[in-house]
Amino acid sequence: MSLMRDIRSKCVSLFSVTKNVKPSATLDRSNTRTRWTRRLRYAGAVLLAVALLGGAAVASAGDAFGARATGNRQRLIESSPQWNGERFANPLPREQASFVTMLRRWVGSAPNTVPTDPLPVVTRTAADFANAPASGLRVTWLGHSTLLLEIGGRRILVDPVWGDRVSPVGWAGPMRFHPPPLPLDELPTIDAVVISHDHYDHLDHPTIVALRERVPRFIVPLGVGAHLEQWGVDAERIVELDWWQATALGDLTLTATPARHFSGRAITRSDEDATLWAGWVIADATHRVYYSGDTALFPELAEIGTRLGPFDLSLIETGAYDAMWADVHLGPEQVILAHQLVRGGLLVPVHWGTFNLALHAWTEPVERLLVAADSAQVRVVVPRPGESVEPATAPTLARWWPTVPWQRADEAPVRSSGVDALWQAR
Ligand SMILES: [Zn+2]
Ligand SMILES: [Zn+2]
Repeated sequence: MSLMRDIRSKCVSLFSVTKNVKPSATLDRSNTRTRWTRRLRYAGAVLLAVALLGGAAVASAGDAFGARATGNRQRLIESSPQWNGERFANPLPREQASFVTMLRRWVGSAPNTVPTDPLPVVTRTAADFANAPASGLRVTWLGHSTLLLEIGGRRILVDPVWGDRVSPVGWAGPMRFHPPPLPLDELPTIDAVVISHDHYDHLDHPTIVALRERVPRFIVPLGVGAHLEQWGVDAERIVELDWWQATALGDLTLTATPARHFSGRAITRSDEDATLWAGWVIADATHRVYYSGDTALFPELAEIGTRLGPFDLSLIETGAYDAMWADVHLGPEQVILAHQLVRGGLLVPVHWGTFNLALHAWTEPVERLLVAADSAQVRVVVPRPGESVEPATAPTLARWWPTVPWQRADEAPVRSSGVDALWQAR
């Protein structure tokens, strides 16, 4: 409701300005007045349309916004070292471009942000996962940040998103570039779902509803359990962790790790940073995997490497970056540095290739990543959507995406704030 109030108050002030424009004596002034009146009416109409669309979104979203933590859950949140009294906060502050700057950038042209031809999806079935990988570790990239991780004889589903759009509603928001490679009804038995944070491209309401009876454990950062309970996941199946806290799943240990990002599902941003965001380390006696979640560059990556690394496999967010929001996403060059800081072995980029969430060409994340990886001698594999990677069998890199124009690092640099020391220490 606050969206409606906010927009209505903006509309009222704009319309009242229109009404208060004083009559002028000269033709010039009259023309200027007419132009301004027209502009203000136009702005008013746009705001009204936004209000109507916002209202329709709120009305049609149903449960998708989730729920705020209450009672014990909220008390636990407020006792977290990451809670600043009002919201969760990153140790390094988040600098952000102004709303006007962002708007200007968004209304500019952004070529090649979506593929023009179908992607070479590798369609999978449950039978493909019937036998555990010979090496004990395999990951299957199911698009964006959705991963099926087979480790220590268990199957973990990371940030499962099967929905057509990453949005609270089915009629608006970024659409997927390719169908899910593994249909939901072909999903093998899953031991746990792991969630990094509550953004729509990581926590998908219809997918959780489809999985709530089929998965015995949902392992999430603090506060995210409120959404899951709202969507019918039994409270006893939910494990909520703060950064550096761990839970066991048989022989596996899952540890929530720091990340530099934010959270929230409300279009009014009224729930911004009310739940925690995290990366995850999933390890057994012989293998260790790091998943970054969504993050910018931050010093504690080195601590993750020291305390929980080195890693056989690092799955690091590589797309949806921009210089304007370099404090919430890494960008390809910083992915390489993050991978080195955590002491990663094989790097598999995620958070790209499925949804258009930024302004860069859709292939740019991996093009730039490969350039940076080459000069740093980091081993990278870029699976097709649906393709599995077993780090022990030395997979090779195959270019499966088309060659389209993209901007180099020097043309569109992405640097998080406050991390100069990390770059200098390389
Ligand atoms: Zn996010
Ligand atoms: Zn994301």
